[in-house]
Amino acid sequence: MRMHWRYTSASRNSYAVLFAACEREGFVLEPVRKPVPEVMVYSLNSLTAPALLPEMAAAPFITIAGGPHASACPDEVLRYADYVVVGEGEAALPALLACLADDRPVSVPGVATTDAFNPPDSTVRLDAWPCFSRMKGYVEISRGCPFSCSYCQTPRIFGHAMRHRSIDRIVEYASRYRDARFVTPNALAYGSDGQAPRLEKVKALLSALHNRIWFGTFPGEVRPEFVTKEAIELITTYCANDSLQFGAQSGSDAVLSRIQRGHTTGDVIRAVELCTDAGLTPVVDIIVGFPFETDDDQKETADFVRWLSSRGKVHAHYFLPLPGTPLAGSAPRPLVPELSRLLGGLALRGKVTGSWRSAGIAFSHIASE
Ligand code: SF4
Repeated sequence: MRMHWRYTSASRNSYAVLFAACEREGFVLEPVRKPVPEVMVYSLNSLTAPALLPEMAAAPFITIAGGPHASACPDEVLRYADYVVVGEGEAALPALLACLADDRPVSVPGVATTDAFNPPDSTVRLDAWPCFSRMKGYVEISRGCPFSCSYCQTPRIFGHAMRHRSIDRIVEYASRYRDARFVTPNALAYGSDGQAPRLEKVKALLSALHNRIWFGTFPGEVRPEFVTKEAIELITTYCANDSLQFGAQSGSDAVLSRIQRGHTTGDVIRAVELCTDAGLTPVVDIIVGFPFETDDDQKETADFVRWLSSRGKVHAHYFLPLPGTPLAGSAPRPLVPELSRLLGGLALRGKVTGSWRSAGIAFSHIASE
């Protein structure tokens, strides 16, 4: 039975992980950019789903969907796909492919059909599965997040318990690259429960690697309250990056409280100052257009962006109401002219990057990938 992965750049890391998991169980997922018989596997996020769902519905083959969008709304996706893998796919996808290959009835934990949903019966232990094989991806060092930011799908898909790959396995996968870059919800939480840092674990990891190390940069940023003098010393001692990326998300403490960020603007200010004192450029994520923002909240965010951009850079995004989160279905709020003009002006000076008018603009090419 021929099995294929619908390749998109947005899902390339999921592809690397699941290619390796399926290969280990004897299935090769060839990458394709259009539907091909006999089995097609799709990974959907909320921005790729509108283009890929109709393609999936029109494909006269077996179709399987997973990823954050399919995990958050399996019933909707089952109108287009034959099977939905809900949550982590390492165990569920190869088990589903085995049923299809052997023409056996599908009763796999973590797989939904229009007839039934069999809930997952375990979480993935990262050391038990490969990061990647010949389809290379980032090295995922941690999964799961104890926080509950109300716009974020991560804890709703991977759970609140933080799990870590062992240092030996991380070193093994990183050795396939010259530069080591990591996937994690919070790089400075490596080895910890995600709430109380264990910097001795971070030090043990960084000192064991033989690469040029990029730590606390995309795609493995940090939380601002984890940025301490000691943490920065580890980065400046062991790592190649001269910037550190963390989320502020808003310049309004009222908004931060409402979205349950678990930190304040004061934590962000401290993190920025620690970075600049150490010669690191702070790169700070901001989300604009939360549904409940007032004009005053947005003006506070504008003031905050002005301050942040005088010391580092800002990565701005327009709010996207993701399914499966407490803010699903809510309408983004338009930006006050002051904030909109400010972001545009700073972008021209290279101080702001991102897409703050529409969450979809940066991804509008996805259908043709
Ligand atoms: S935004 Fe980051 S800290 Fe908040 S829930 Fe998501 S992964 Fe966790």
